[in-house]
Amino acid sequence: MIAFSYGVRMRRIFHYALIPTACGLLASCSSVPEARVKDTSRSFTTVIVDAGHGGKDNGALRRYGGAEKDANLDVAMRLARKLRESQFRTVMTRSSDVFIPLDERAAISNRQKNAIFVSVHFNDSRRRGIRGFETYYHSSIARNLAYRIQQHLVTIPGSTSRGVKTANFRVLRKALYPAVLVECGFLSNRKEGAGARSASYRDELADKIAEAIVDERYGKGTYRPPQTADSADTSGHTE
Ligand SMILES: [Zn+2]
Repeated sequence: MIAFSYGVRMRRIFHYALIPTACGLLASCSSVPEARVKDTSRSFTTVIVDAGHGGKDNGALRRYGGAEKDANLDVAMRLARKLRESQFRTVMTRSSDVFIPLDERAAISNRQKNAIFVSVHFNDSRRRGIRGFETYYHSSIARNLAYRIQQHLVTIPGSTSRGVKTANFRVLRKALYPAVLVECGFLSNRKEGAGARSASYRDELADKIAEAIVDERYGKGTYRPPQTADSADTSGHTE
């Protein structure tokens, strides 16, 4: 077990060292004390959807064209739409390619009432073989939500879990509500990079995260995927 945790720690250091943009998420500042984080897991009516990076901050640069910020925004917009269709109020920290400082993202979230916060990112590594989903939380109040999102994501066929982890990311530790950060796969990996460039795969990612959020609020199996024009065409159902 010691060897295992050492390995995890080394991987995390390795991960941060390779992603200077992600290091911005770690800039030092005080945390919200655990006791001040409101447990809205079973009552929330609003979901703050945070598309990572934006504007001058590209996030991870995709080796196959484009930048992380664009993939984040697309998944976040899809997620917000699905959540509205499930009767949640949504607030996006950005809905276009603009730079929003991390403290402002947390402030936007903390101004809401009865909410949870979900940040959408994609990952990057110099080692192209590395792939898989990661979901992060800071307050233990967000632990269930993080596990639930990860569980739903890994139902995507052929996907890999790199686990649910705690992290000191600024947007998480300044949150007054349950807050998670989802890494939707590695842009540097051939398979996951190709996925990120596919609208239908990005939609599937958003669908899984939405499904997890609805389950967290109302109980397992309560999510009904929105009947979009695309899914109606491909499924052949006419209901
Ligand atoms: Zn990122």
